[in-house]
Amino acid sequence: MSQRQLWDYLLLHHRPLISSPFFPVILAFSSYVVFSVPFAVLDLMGDKMPYFYQYKIQQDRKPTLQMMKKSFMTAVYNHIFLFYQAPTVCEVFVDGLASLLLFDTQYYIWHLIHHKHPQLYKWIHAVHHEYKSPFSWSTEQLSIPELMTVGIWSNQDPILLRCHPLTTWCVTVFSIWMSVEDHIGYDLPWTLNHLVPCGLLGGAPAHDMHHQKPNSNYAPFFSHWDRLFGTVVPLKRTYVK
Ligand SMILES: [Zn+2]
Ligand SMILES: [Zn+2]
Repeated sequence: MSQRQLWDYLLLHHRPLISSPFFPVILAFSSYVVFSVPFAVLDLMGDKMPYFYQYKIQQDRKPTLQMMKKSFMTAVYNHIFLFYQAPTVCEVFVDGLASLLLFDTQYYIWHLIHHKHPQLYKWIHAVHHEYKSPFSWSTEQLSIPELMTVGIWSNQDPILLRCHPLTTWCVTVFSIWMSVEDHIGYDLPWTLNHLVPCGLLGGAPAHDMHHQKPNSNYAPFFSHWDRLFGTVVPLKRTYVK
């Protein structure tokens, strides 16, 4: 069966399962169980299976059934039971902020590299820079490699940080709002960059400037990396006289 046939089969027969936000968790947890079972049997059998036991690295230390149960139950709790409890507002905020900070750092590095390297810029990032004056729809005018990179980070970061699915959905919606806001082309007084103090968020002024002056303001959301590495450039407005 080719990967195309496999994917078509999964879409046709198991779409609700693979579309579920729980699917990555189910996949990760079942892989952990399947891969661990043969070695658990081996540990319990010990020197009754001398062919394998001769390869044991620390033969003087043997995991007991009790130790296995404790590790397994910790994993069960982390992977499954936590997902049945709604997260607190504080958890959504802290985990969501951590996801956004991680994404911001990843994209800052990626963005800087793709502006410094002429070939990478030409083939991967230039599509996004067609317009010097961004507008809302241009938010997702991206090449396929850029869209895939951003998509992988957006999906994997909350999983990596063990966010609750509800937090992940909030992060998805919020980060898309922040990305669109970056590109609206208006410095409205009530946008997030004005609501959050100390200029912690760049918002439309910073990203508009990035489209005007591409070697500046690389971070998508926050301003700390651009401030730290001296790539921050303040907004310059243009008026029609
Ligand atoms: Zn942009
Ligand atoms: Zn750029």
